[in-house]
Amino acid sequence: MEDELAEFLDGKDEVLVVEEGEPALLEREIRAIAQKIGWTGRIVRGEYLPITGELTTDDLVKGFSEFLGNSGSALRVDGFPFEPSTRNAQPETHYLPVVPRFPNFCTGCPERPAVLTAVKIFRDLHPEVRLEIVLDIGCYIMGIYYLRELTSPVTGMGTCLASSLATSFLTQEKTLYVVGDGTFWAQALTTSISNALYHRQNCVVLILENFWTAMTGHQPNPSTKVGERAGNLDIEAALKGMGAKWVKVVNPYEVGEVVRLLEEAWSLTEIGPRFLIARGECMLERSRRERKEREQQVQAGRRVAEAHFGVDPLVCVGDHSCLHYNNCPSLTVRPSPNPLKRDLIVQAEQTCVACGLCGSVAHAAKLCPSFYRIEWVRNPSLWERWQFKLRRWLIGV
Ligand code: SF4
Ligand code: SF4
Repeated sequence: MEDELAEFLDGKDEVLVVEEGEPALLEREIRAIAQKIGWTGRIVRGEYLPITGELTTDDLVKGFSEFLGNSGSALRVDGFPFEPSTRNAQPETHYLPVVPRFPNFCTGCPERPAVLTAVKIFRDLHPEVRLEIVLDIGCYIMGIYYLRELTSPVTGMGTCLASSLATSFLTQEKTLYVVGDGTFWAQALTTSISNALYHRQNCVVLILENFWTAMTGHQPNPSTKVGERAGNLDIEAALKGMGAKWVKVVNPYEVGEVVRLLEEAWSLTEIGPRFLIARGECMLERSRRERKEREQQVQAGRRVAEAHFGVDPLVCVGDHSCLHYNNCPSLTVRPSPNPLKRDLIVQAEQTCVACGLCGSVAHAAKLCPSFYRIEWVRNPSLWERWQFKLRRWLIGV
């Protein structure tokens, strides 16, 4: 780490540290190493970027633009012409509000809609259900921060459902067991799942099949769709082969459908464990791959459309239901442009990958009409260019 930083600093006069919030752990560490190796350049951060609040895309673009301009670099950030120096002036966004957050799923993660949104909606619709949520080990264990009054302790990788057979018998609560494909294949299949089928345990098993063992660094597992052994094993077939009577597959972003299937599974108490497979690729892995493919297409001059969700600041009333049911890190809060509205409104950041959850939540939870979907088109066709010009002429957009 020290060698890598020394190599990076070598030959540079000024370095901008991008770090969110205080205390500035990264900045301090970099300053200490720079001093130790005798680097004589300048390290900046607060001069260009807010040191409190969330680092939004707008903050970064503005900060980079000013940093590059002040450093005399020929580089420029598109759409942000360099303005006279604001060095040493505190950015005006210094005291922007911040959304209180627990550790969170990535933007667009397929596990969020299944574990958080659908379970919360199910819970709101059926407060009478005596429910114990058992989260196994994987990214989805972050659900304990959001559903903590309903969750049970983790007793071991893949063994949590087996432990809950005893506790649910004592508490008379039915178990909703959440397990990812990595843990399913590594351990749960031969312990918790076979135990549940053998004892005809009255439980619902939500299997998050995201095709990677994500929490430990995206190792492949038998559900992974690439590689020479891809397709050798199949969760649905394995469960049916072991005698499971109710096995369904669902797209996790279709929250209304996930809730409907949870309700159906919950009502079937006589047939032993019911299995709902929420199938959607880990968004971190998918975004990395798709971003690279998109850039190649753009370089080759092909038309590329990238979708994003946005929140209309004039429609949002600031009740924050979307944050409650969704809590995607791409959603943040901002003061309303309407001086008569005192509540903070929601803003969707450009990091949004348009996974569709916002639209689905707005529909399934009957939220609000503030959300809209746009497509950012690169290398547009002649027809699209003409449409764009016409729109701009007609309505000034
Ligand atoms: S690494 Fe993948 S599975 Fe884990 S939180 Fe991020 S998107 Fe979700
Ligand atoms: S659509 Fe909504 S939930 Fe999905 S990435 Fe964008 S802001 Fe996040």
